[in-house]
Amino acid sequence: MRLSENLALIASFQFRLAGRFDCHVYALRGPEGVVLIDAGGGREQDRLFAHLDAAFPGTPVTDLVLTHTHPDHALGAAGVRRRTGCRVWAPALTRAIVETGDEAACGLAGAKEAGMYPADLMFEPCPVDADYRDGAAFTAGGLAFEPILVRGHSPDAHSFAVTLDGRRSLFAGDVVFYGGVIGLINAPGSDMAGYRADLCKLSGRGIDALFPGHGLFTFEGGQRHIDCAVDLVRKGFIPRTVGQWDTIF
Ligand SMILES: [Zn+2]
Repeated sequence: MRLSENLALIASFQFRLAGRFDCHVYALRGPEGVVLIDAGGGREQDRLFAHLDAAFPGTPVTDLVLTHTHPDHALGAAGVRRRTGCRVWAPALTRAIVETGDEAACGLAGAKEAGMYPADLMFEPCPVDADYRDGAAFTAGGLAFEPILVRGHSPDAHSFAVTLDGRRSLFAGDVVFYGGVIGLINAPGSDMAGYRADLCKLSGRGIDALFPGHGLFTFEGGQRHIDCAVDLVRKGFIPRTVGQWDTIF
């Protein structure tokens, strides 16, 4: 589904686009190819690629950028890499988890125990081709990405500031969502201390478009949604969290 000239949403369980275990998977078309933000859960990947082909026919996927290692974002990485030959980007903290398919560390084991994921859903190990790190801009597909580490949803959660189709855009992963909702969850690796330390890094960035890993997105005024959460955290409060927002899954 094309969202703008060079942006498409190619998987999302929430919008019934591709598979049951897919976060929002965004495809960004740059001058040198298509960059995927996250890989989804890996099942029904044929549908993901059908949506990609419909949006940007004939444009090769050069890069896959993982925002974090949770199963609905990272399990599909090996399949995407095998099918496209793209480079997979992840921070150093994430590399060991992705390259070994560590189901405990990525949250899959706990999610299976909780009944959120089926027992036969596996984390296929995926080689990581390139590291990114907080604050160090890199180029993929001919587009400039600025990774911003915001702990709190997970220890490795990054958002990416990118200028696309004339809009300063934030691909937020599960760090912050439309309406100032944050990704604090009751799972290992998620804690308010991370948000207290890092969420303020997203303020003052003049973000137009906010594209989170789940839920609604917006093309204008994205910074207001972010600042809503930042202001509450600064004042000592806990913003609404994904657990209080029942439309995600
Ligand atoms: Zn997550």
